[in-house]
Amino acid sequence: MSDRIKRLIDRLETKHTLTKPEWIEVLDGFDDSDREYAAKKARAVSLGVFGSNIYIRGIVEFSNVCRNDCYYCGIRRSNKAAQRYRLTDDEILSCCDEGYGFGFRTFVLQSGEDYKEYPAERIAGIVKRIKAAHPDCAVTLSLGEMEYDDLKLMREAGADRYLLRHETAAKALYQKLHPDKMSFEHRMKCLKWLKELGYQTGAGMMIGAPYQTSEDLAEDMLFLRNLEPHMIGTGPFLPHKDTPFKDFPKGGYELTLLVLSLCRLMLPRVLLPATTALGTIREDGREQGVLAGANVIMPNLSPTAVRKKYMLYDGKIGTASAAADGLEDIKNRMRSIGYEVMISRGDFKL
Ligand code: SAH
Repeated sequence: MSDRIKRLIDRLETKHTLTKPEWIEVLDGFDDSDREYAAKKARAVSLGVFGSNIYIRGIVEFSNVCRNDCYYCGIRRSNKAAQRYRLTDDEILSCCDEGYGFGFRTFVLQSGEDYKEYPAERIAGIVKRIKAAHPDCAVTLSLGEMEYDDLKLMREAGADRYLLRHETAAKALYQKLHPDKMSFEHRMKCLKWLKELGYQTGAGMMIGAPYQTSEDLAEDMLFLRNLEPHMIGTGPFLPHKDTPFKDFPKGGYELTLLVLSLCRLMLPRVLLPATTALGTIREDGREQGVLAGANVIMPNLSPTAVRKKYMLYDGKIGTASAAADGLEDIKNRMRSIGYEVMISRGDFKL
C-alpha cells in the first residue's frame, strides 16, 4: 500500500506534478516511512540547488493594527485583548540597521492591514530609505492585499519581493476562514499583479486550518504548481486564545513536513522557509523543516518591546529574545544539522 505512495513521490520528483486524485492519495495515505522517503529526496534536491546554505531574512513586524478580521489570526480587528502598536519610520530603519550588522541582507516588513497609517506612499519612502542605507539588501513587503497602483508605487520605490499567502486555493474554505467582506478573488488578483509587476512573489497556506480537507490541500498544490511562486510560506495552523478558532486543534506537524517536501519536489528552486509556526509546534521544527527540504529561515528583527504584541497564534517563539540571540540560536541549530547560515540576499535563482 505504502509502495504506491512512494511511487507517486518518485513521479513527483521526475515530473514535478501529480493529478488531484494523486495528491489526495498521498496526503491521506502517507505514513512515517513515506514522509521520510519524501524528505530524503526533497533534501537532496535542496542541497543540489542551494548547497548546505540557509538563507536568512530579518522580519520587522512594524504594526499589529489590522482592518481585517480573519478568524484564525491573533491580531484580527475584533481582538480587543490585543495591545496595538505602530513603529515609526526611524524605528523601522534602526531595526534594519541593527540587522545589517548581524549579517541580514533581506529585510521583510510585515504588518496587519494598516493602510490608513501606512499608505503605499509612506511604505515607498521607507523602502527608499532602507535601500539608500543598504544598497546591497533586498526588501520584502508583507502588508496584505493592496490595489495595483499601490503595489506598483512600492515596486518602483525599490521593493524587491512581496509575500502574500493565498491561505487556501479552495474558495469554499476561504469563506470559512474569513468574514464575508473579504474576497478570495481579490487576494488571487493581488498575487497575479505581484508577479506582473516583477516582484519575487511568495504565496502559501496554513496546514491543518479548521475545516481544511486533503482535497483542499490538493487544490493548494495544483494552484501553486500553476502560479509558480518564487517562495512558498507554509506552516501549521496554531490556535490563538482570543479568536473564534481558539478551540480548534493545531495543524499536523508531520503533515506540514510532508507538504514542505512535496513543495520542494514540485518546484525545485522555490524559496521555502522553515517557518516560525513550525518552530513553535515542535522544539526542533525548523531543523526538521530544513531536513525536509526548506532552505530559508526568517528570524525576528522587531524591537523586543513589541514582539509579544505581534501574536498571530499562542506560544509564538522568539518573543522574549533579542534579535542577536535569535540569530545566534538559528546559526547553532543549523550547524547542528550540518547547514550554515549564509550572508546573502538569497534571491530566487532562475
Ligand atoms: N497582513 C498580512 C500578514 C499576515 S500574518 C497578510 O494579510 O498577508 C502572516 C501569515 O501568518 C498569514 O498569512 C497566515 O497564513 C499566518 N497566520 C495567521 N494566523 C495564524 C495562526 N493562527 N496559525 C498559523 N499561522 C497563522
